[in-house]
Amino acid sequence: LVSKKWRVEDTRISLGDGLEIGTGSFSIMAGPCSIESAAQVEETIAHLKAAGVRIMRGGVYKPRSSPYAFRGLGMEGLKLWHEKAREAGIKIITEVMMVEQIEPMLEYVDIFQVGARNSQNFNLLDALGQVDRPVLLKRGISGTIEELLQAAEYIFSNGNERIMLCERGIRSYEGAYRNTMDINAIAMLKAKTHLPVIADPSHGIGLRQFVDKIALASVMAGADGVIMEVHGQPEKAFSDGQQTLSYQEANRLYSRLRQAFELR
Ligand code: PEP
Ligand code: MN
Repeated sequence: LVSKKWRVEDTRISLGDGLEIGTGSFSIMAGPCSIESAAQVEETIAHLKAAGVRIMRGGVYKPRSSPYAFRGLGMEGLKLWHEKAREAGIKIITEVMMVEQIEPMLEYVDIFQVGARNSQNFNLLDALGQVDRPVLLKRGISGTIEELLQAAEYIFSNGNERIMLCERGIRSYEGAYRNTMDINAIAMLKAKTHLPVIADPSHGIGLRQFVDKIALASVMAGADGVIMEVHGQPEKAFSDGQQTLSYQEANRLYSRLRQAFELR
């Protein structure tokens, strides 16, 4: 169902308020790795508004390698975020980790993110297939393109056709950076499927100084948008600070991305 052989026209996903994701437009989603406080949310929204970015990312349920690391503010964080984002006309994308979280989160979320670690959580995928919200599905940590497409198939076959695929880097033998951004996958996914493809250059390389280059390469490979981590003080971020851009760095990248998309 997610194959171009089955549906020729590319899928465009409407978020309402004239916002659409998919072939023909370029979407930017930006925000912190984790939602940390009301002040941080306000500051991020001000940054996004000034930059013309309409979708804010942020985790309230965080899959962390260590159980002792910051695991997110949960529903409380999502509610305060939602209140401020709605006032500002900003859409929310956030990760859902388990089936039980979907229902309470639903009214506060514009796009559900499935993280790399849950990319093959088939019960979660089935459940998200029955929900009236777009889903951004990340590629598994060691997931193949075929496995990503099959995961999308779970959601689609349950009735939810509003899916975007996300390349966020895969685990390889290379230890010089956090993940190996598979630019190849972006070009190939665009050829194989009608679904929008979003690049995550932050997790894709995991090092702040290279995020801009990888983001721009992703655009040239055919990405319909990027999701990236930004923070007022990246070095103080509760998670993923090493790969997070400052507002100033992010502003420069947004304009280069828009230019690159126009040139493509
Ligand atoms: C995130 O977006 O912060 C995240 C945890 O991503 P991933 O699932 O790709 O590791
Ligand atoms: Mn992160």
